Amino acid sequence: MSKVVLITGASRGIGAATAKLLAQRGYNVAINYVKNADAATDVANEIKQNGGMCDTFCADVTNECDVIQLFNDVESRLGPVTHLVNNAGILFKQSTLSDISLERFLNTVNGNLTSTFLCAKEFIKRCPSDGAMVNVSSGAALSGAPFEYVDYAAAKGAVDSLTRGLALEVAERGIRVNAVRPGLIYTDIHRDGGEPERVDRLKEKIPLKRGGQPIEVANSIAYLLSDDASFITGKILDVTGGI
Ligand code: NAP
Repeated sequence: MSKVVLITGASRGIGAATAKLLAQRGYNVAINYVKNADAATDVANEIKQNGGMCDTFCADVTNECDVIQLFNDVESRLGPVTHLVNNAGILFKQSTLSDISLERFLNTVNGNLTSTFLCAKEFIKRCPSDGAMVNVSSGAALSGAPFEYVDYAAAKGAVDSLTRGLALEVAERGIRVNAVRPGLIYTDIHRDGGEPERVDRLKEKIPLKRGGQPIEVANSIAYLLSDDASFITGKILDVTGGI
């Protein structure tokens, strides 16, 4: 059976790098996005020019109906989803907890945790016995992201717990569930947090003395999805340059 990977939020950043890498490794790649159709198409065109198989899928992964439709659409256009990367994530402007509104808190939880829950639920209903998924958490789950985005950190901490619990629930079926916790990676998410140059400001605090590139996270995701990680489940890999 061919390997079909669904990557949520693959129009840019870590998701786009993962899509290109997994296409090179022989997966049929479902590139999900929510707003940025042009960017998703650019990722797909690059994959196809290099001989890979992929398609783009617009869906809001915080919405249950969208998620069910997404899995149905991927199945009819590329084949049943055998691998999942729960990568889509959001954060909002840097702030202290006392300035975070309830509306923002709930949006943050939905964009990082509810999305992971919904896609994981749909995936394990349908995936084969050797299926594997990787959740994209964050180093913020451990740091707590004080004065920046405690809401985001809390949602990612819950992604870690979901990873562990789900892994133990489905282990007997042979399905593996792991996560990565990226550190400071050069992507547009920092612009959304209100500080596009955040990685450069903080990079001296990283033991390796530099920010990470999306491909460096993609490499870890690809490893955890692959048979090279066949005896690893319920684990979280820090991709943080030593933090
Ligand atoms: P990014 O460049 O901001 O890209 C976010 C992606 O998520 C985009 O493809 C976006 O689609 C998609 N997305 C957002 N909400 C969505 C929704 N409701 N439904 C479907 N897709 C949605 O982010 P990134 O930096 O690559 O981050 C990827 C993951 O790594 C996230 O989970 C993030 O929390 C995590 N992470 C990043 C860093 C870092 O330093 N960059 C560090 C730790 C963890 P559109 O383009 O259509 O909007």
